[in-house]
Amino acid sequence: MSDNPLLQPWDAPYALPPFNRLRAEHFEPALREAMRRHREELAAIAGQATAPDFDNTVAAFDRAGKLLARVASVFYSLTSSATSPALQAVQRAMAGPMAAHQSAVYMDAALFARFDALHERRAGLGLTAEQRRLLERIHLDFVRAGARLEPARQARYAQVMEELARLTTQFAQNVLHDESTWQLVLQGEPDLAGLPDFVRTAAHQAAIERGVDGRVITLSRSLVVPFLSFSERRDLRERAWRAWVGRGESPGEHDNREIARDILRLRNEQARLHGHRCFADHALTDTMAGTRAAVQGLLGEVWPRALAAVERERQALLQAMAAAGAGDELEAWDWRYWAEKVRRERFAIDDAEVKPYFRLENVVAAAFDCAQRLFGLRFVPCEDLPVYHPDVRAYEVRDAGDAVVGIFMQDNFARPAKRSGAWMSSLRWQSRNGGAQLPVILNNNNFARGGADEPTLLSLDDARTLFHEFGHGLHGLLSDVGYERLSGTQVLRDFVELPSQIFEHWITEPEVLQRHARHHQTGEAIPQSLIDRLHAARRFGQGYETVRYTASALVDMAVHALEAPEPPADLCAFEAELLRELGLPHGVGLNHRLVHFQHLFAGSSYAAGYYVYLWAEVLDADGYDAFVEAGSPFAPEVAGRLRRHVYAAGNSVEPGAAYAAFRGRPPTVQPLLKKRGLLEAEPA
Ligand SMILES: [Zn+2]
Repeated sequence: MSDNPLLQPWDAPYALPPFNRLRAEHFEPALREAMRRHREELAAIAGQATAPDFDNTVAAFDRAGKLLARVASVFYSLTSSATSPALQAVQRAMAGPMAAHQSAVYMDAALFARFDALHERRAGLGLTAEQRRLLERIHLDFVRAGARLEPARQARYAQVMEELARLTTQFAQNVLHDESTWQLVLQGEPDLAGLPDFVRTAAHQAAIERGVDGRVITLSRSLVVPFLSFSERRDLRERAWRAWVGRGESPGEHDNREIARDILRLRNEQARLHGHRCFADHALTDTMAGTRAAVQGLLGEVWPRALAAVERERQALLQAMAAAGAGDELEAWDWRYWAEKVRRERFAIDDAEVKPYFRLENVVAAAFDCAQRLFGLRFVPCEDLPVYHPDVRAYEVRDAGDAVVGIFMQDNFARPAKRSGAWMSSLRWQSRNGGAQLPVILNNNNFARGGADEPTLLSLDDARTLFHEFGHGLHGLLSDVGYERLSGTQVLRDFVELPSQIFEHWITEPEVLQRHARHHQTGEAIPQSLIDRLHAARRFGQGYETVRYTASALVDMAVHALEAPEPPADLCAFEAELLRELGLPHGVGLNHRLVHFQHLFAGSSYAAGYYVYLWAEVLDADGYDAFVEAGSPFAPEVAGRLRRHVYAAGNSVEPGAAYAAFRGRPPTVQPLLKKRGLLEAEPA
C-alpha cells in the first residue's frame, strides 16, 4: 500500500495525479482502500451521538469520499482514453465491487435516517437556498438508490446494480474491440478515387499508427464520415458502412446483442423495485421533462417535420444522381456521397475548400478567445503539468484578475486505445466545502491526426464538436458553488447539454470566423464569400441529421418504455420493425443502433435520455437569441447573465428557474425549429 502512488500524497502542481508513475496494478488496491476509507468516514457521520444538523450530516457527507473520487476519476480517464488489456481487466474486476460500494453507501439505514429526519423538517432549518437544494439533492440520491426499499428488496436491488455495472463495462469494451480491430486497407490509386488530400493524409497517418503500409480507413468518425462523403468506390463505401453500423453485432465473444437484452431486463427489474412500470418512467422522474409524455411531445413535434425535410433532401440527391446517370438506387452508403455533391453544386461548398481554414490549433484558439471575450478567462499553456498521454495539452485557466480558477486538459486525437466519440470529464470538481477546491477539467475529442509534417485540419462539424465539449468544460471551470455534489455539470441530464450546445453557436459567428478561420498555408482569413456560402448551406442536410438523431431517440424511448419484464427476443428485429412503423426512409439510417449505442448501454446515465440533446436545443436556440436581440454575440450584459445563471450555478438552482433567470422568461420551441429549417416547407 505505502508504495502505491495513488495512495501517497499527490505532490505535483495543483495536486494533479502522478500519471507518469501509475501502472494498471495500482488501481485495484487503491480503489479498495479508498472505498474502505470512504465507508469509515461515513460510519463516523452515521454513528455520531449528536443529533443530525446540516453541517454534521449534509456538508460532512458532501466532503467525504475525496480519495475515492480522485482515484476513480483517474481510473476512468485512463480506461476511456488510454486503455490496455491490463486496465480493461481491472475495469471488469472492479465494476461490481464499485457498484456494491455505491449501494452500501446509499442503503445505509443509519445514515439515511439522519438525512430523512433533516429532509422532513428542511423548511425550518434556516438553510440558504443552496444548502436546502443540497439536502434535497442528496436525499433524492438516497431514495433513487433504494434507501427506502425493505431489506430483502434492497439486497436484490444491490445485486441488480452490480450486474448492470459488469454488463455495461463489457458492452463498452466490446464496442471498442470492434472499432479498434476493423480497418479497410486502401491499395493504390484505384482505392483512393475521389478522396481529397486531407482524407488521404489522415488515412496514411492512421496506417502508421496501426503499423500498416499504405492507407487505412478506420471506424473513427472523423475518418469514416469523410470516406463515405468522398470515395467514388461504391463497393468500398458499402464495406465501410456495413462495418460501421455492424459494431457490436458480430457473433462471438464481443457480441453485444445478448448483453443489451440482459441490461434491459435488469433495468426493467430496477424500475419495478421502485414501483415504476418501465425503466423510462424511473429515469424520467429525475429530469426537467419529468414524463414520457413530455419527451414524446417534443420528439413528436420534430419527427414529421424532419421527415418532410429529409424527403426534400432525398429528392435533391435523386436529381443529382439522375443528372449524373447514376440510377436511382440510393442506399445508406450513398447518401453522404451524393449529399456532398449536391452541397458542392447548389451552394458551391466543398469540405476540401473549407477544411484548410480550420486548423486544429486555430479552432482551439478561437474557443479560448470566445471564453475570454465572454467570461474574461485566459488559458495559459503549462507544459510541465503531468498528463496521461503526450497528446494531452494542459492549461492554467486564469480569470480577469489573473487568479488561477482551474486546470483544463485537452486530448484531441483518435487512438486505437481510446473510445470513440467526444466527451468532457472531471478529475476534480470545484467546491468550497472544507476549503477552496479548484476544478480540473478534461476534454476528449477523436480527430484524425494530420501527417508528420502536416497540420490537423478539422471539418466544420469537428470544429463544432470541439466547441461543444469546450462548452461542457466551461460549465466545469466556471462553476461557483459551495458544495461538490452541486458543482459543474452534475445537473439534470436534460439541462447538461445547454452550456455545451449554446457554445457551438460562436464557431459560426462571422466575427469569430474572420478572426480565427485562417488558411493554414497562406494565413489569409476565410473569404466573406465562403462564409456567405456556409451560411446559405447551413440548413441543407439538417433533415438527414435530424431524422437520424430523432429516430435514435425514439428507439431509445421505445426500448426503455417496454413494460414486459422480458425484453424482445431479437433486439435488431425490434429496432427494424419500430423504424418501419415510424416511417424512417430507406437509406438514412440511425445515429446509433442499439448494439453499439454507448449512450444507452455503456453506462446508465443517458438511458431513456438520448432525447436530452433536443430538449437542451430548445433551450440553446432560444437562449442564443438573447445575444441576437442584444445586437452582439459578445454582449457583456447577456454574457454576464449566462455566466451567473447557467455556467456558474451548477445544480444549486432548479434548472427551469436558472434558465428563466438568464432569459427573463421560459423557453419557446420556435427558435429550434427555425434553426433546423423545420418551421415550414422550404426548399431543401
Ligand atoms: Zn454534450
